Amino acid sequence: MILKNQVAIITGASRGIGKEIALTFAKEGARVVLCATNRERLSQAAQQIETESGVKPLFFTFDIREAKEMSEVVKKTLDTHTRIDILVNNAGITRDQLLVMMPEEDWDAVLCVNLKSVFLFTKAVAKAMIRQRSGRIINVSSVIGITGNAGQANYAASKGGIIAFTKSAAQELGKRNITVNAIAPGFIETDMTAPLENQAKEDVRKRIPLGRLGVPNDVAQVALFLASKQSSYITGQVIRVDGGINM
Ligand code: NAP
Repeated sequence: MILKNQVAIITGASRGIGKEIALTFAKEGARVVLCATNRERLSQAAQQIETESGVKPLFFTFDIREAKEMSEVVKKTLDTHTRIDILVNNAGITRDQLLVMMPEEDWDAVLCVNLKSVFLFTKAVAKAMIRQRSGRIINVSSVIGITGNAGQANYAASKGGIIAFTKSAAQELGKRNITVNAIAPGFIETDMTAPLENQAKEDVRKRIPLGRLGVPNDVAQVALFLASKQSSYITGQVIRVDGGINM
């Protein structure tokens, strides 16, 4: 098992990419700690992970904008498992709108949930990882953070910010044997992309060299690699998982 007895905190683990990462890690022996806002969805995800992997996850429902709650999650995880090996900063939202029409609160909400939370959670786990002299931090960015996108100025800024943050944190924490990397997914089929019309999805698909939309497992396999010993000499990188849509 690739992650036997490793302790992994995953945000946005109630559904989509985060749930798939948690399930993949648990099947590889990790003790997973799940975070999201919706208690019912998160508890169902925890139940599914336990059934499919035999690992009983810890789970915490809170809004990722609350720094105090994150410290509490870190404390409870350390109380239970004594260490934290992996943090996956995955929770994210969109509030799409052309920038001239974008309400300031939609800018703030997206930057806060997608980017500030990455800073806060990384800060909250870094002390434990520094003490252990090992750690893996994986931040879920997006190809939109590299290319930008009309109608997504807030989302693009948050995801681009994650990439800049990843490189800075990698430089600060490298000497403590902590790697910090980002994954930039392209179009992945989840609740986030479900509202898109079928025709729009087909138009995207036609632009993807690999000829299909992505699924959460495409991202989870790369997260598994970045969490594993096999990636121990990789830090500060952004790995695109996009079927080749943006080369
Ligand atoms: P999703 O299905 O909408 O899931 C989002 C997750 O984030 C849920 O678990 C949700 O929890 C959690 N979350 C949202 N707001 C939160 C908050 N304020 N506090 C705590 N948790 C919160 O999205 P997804 O497609 O799996 O996306 C996961 C990540 O990948 C995001 O960062 C997204 O930007 C990124 N990404 C996705 C795609 C794509 O095509 N799907 C492409 C590139 C990047 P609740 O269930 O409690 O709401």
